[in-house]
Amino acid sequence: MDLNGANTAGQRDGRTDADGGAQPGQANGSVNRPGQQNGAVAPLPTYLTHRLRLNPSADHKPDNYEDLELDFSPLVFSSLERYLPPPLLLQTRDTKVNFMREILRRYYPQSDRIRVQKHREYRQKIISNYQRLHTELYEMHAENVFVPSFINLLNENSGQSLKKRLNEPAEGIYTFEMLQPRFCDMLMAEVENFEKWVHETKFRIMRPNTMNKYGAVLDDFGMETMLNTLMEEFIRPISKACFQHVGGASLDSHHGFVLEYGMDRDVDLGFHVDDSEVTLNVCLGRKFCGGELYFRGMRCDKHVNTETQMNESFDYAHVPGHAVLHSGRHRHGARATTSGNRINLLLWCRSSAFREMKKYQKDFSSWCGHCKREKEERRDQSVAATKLELLRRDGRTAATN
Ligand SMILES: [Zn+2]
Repeated sequence: MDLNGANTAGQRDGRTDADGGAQPGQANGSVNRPGQQNGAVAPLPTYLTHRLRLNPSADHKPDNYEDLELDFSPLVFSSLERYLPPPLLLQTRDTKVNFMREILRRYYPQSDRIRVQKHREYRQKIISNYQRLHTELYEMHAENVFVPSFINLLNENSGQSLKKRLNEPAEGIYTFEMLQPRFCDMLMAEVENFEKWVHETKFRIMRPNTMNKYGAVLDDFGMETMLNTLMEEFIRPISKACFQHVGGASLDSHHGFVLEYGMDRDVDLGFHVDDSEVTLNVCLGRKFCGGELYFRGMRCDKHVNTETQMNESFDYAHVPGHAVLHSGRHRHGARATTSGNRINLLLWCRSSAFREMKKYQKDFSSWCGHCKREKEERRDQSVAATKLELLRRDGRTAATN
């Protein structure tokens, strides 16, 4: 297995094999993405005559849209309402909704809208049929979830003092004890119960991402709110201190799932980057051998397959209840779990603001190991050129004297 370079299956949505023979320098890196559902629905008409005002009606009080089943967030409608042409503000809520939907549809590709709608229906179907085993898992009660040291860490520290209190065994990789054994056991039992239900009902579930055949999306069976609190109240403060340069301060959505490894499950996980700004990975447990994570430095999209530098290699052995927190752009993979079973909780945290900003940037030398190296080389060349020029001038001055 070549661990110094990026292995890639050469395709985005396929499983990447760590031994797959791909070599560094290939253009299309392996990005582990959430699983998706397909579906085709007839196109909707758009009314190009619909226009908004340039300036909002500041003193208009918008309607509340929360009780409606809409294809966009109710907050979007309340915010947009102030921009409606004044005569429309006097119309019924339904008229306003229809007008605004037509406008919004122009900016939101139909394929995305259908995907979101289908996914909402999929979740609804699971949530209304699946019988929960441990109902307390579905709400965040910090004292039942975390070990006291983790709660104290967050209560007593913020910013740089929080960063200093965390263990950072390699640059940009933070480890800490996090979950109570009881919580880990309950979560594993809940997942097992869910898998049993899936098996019995023959429900076709979507797997967590494009690279794992086993595992379950926790958000899909009711844990979305709980995991959102986990991200907002516990992971974001840490990310703000440790991952500000990669959007850690503005995390605003997540993808939460568990992965199961073992000889009868996924054995290993190929070299890849995550579809996240910050990834939380916590081993929930079971008895196992192997399964270490190997890290090989952070890279931007363009440089995902460039070679690993000496100081970028780091291996991490999982400890049940302990978390490892890293940037999604930190290239990594998991070695084979050679015996037993291992279950890990993954929370991919994302920042829409960071993703939007990234579109306009070309230089990522503040975090991409390769961009940084290129920048240093350019600087060295420029210093060398300046020195040469100065020597040449000195030589000329000496000659004329
Ligand atoms: Zn780069």
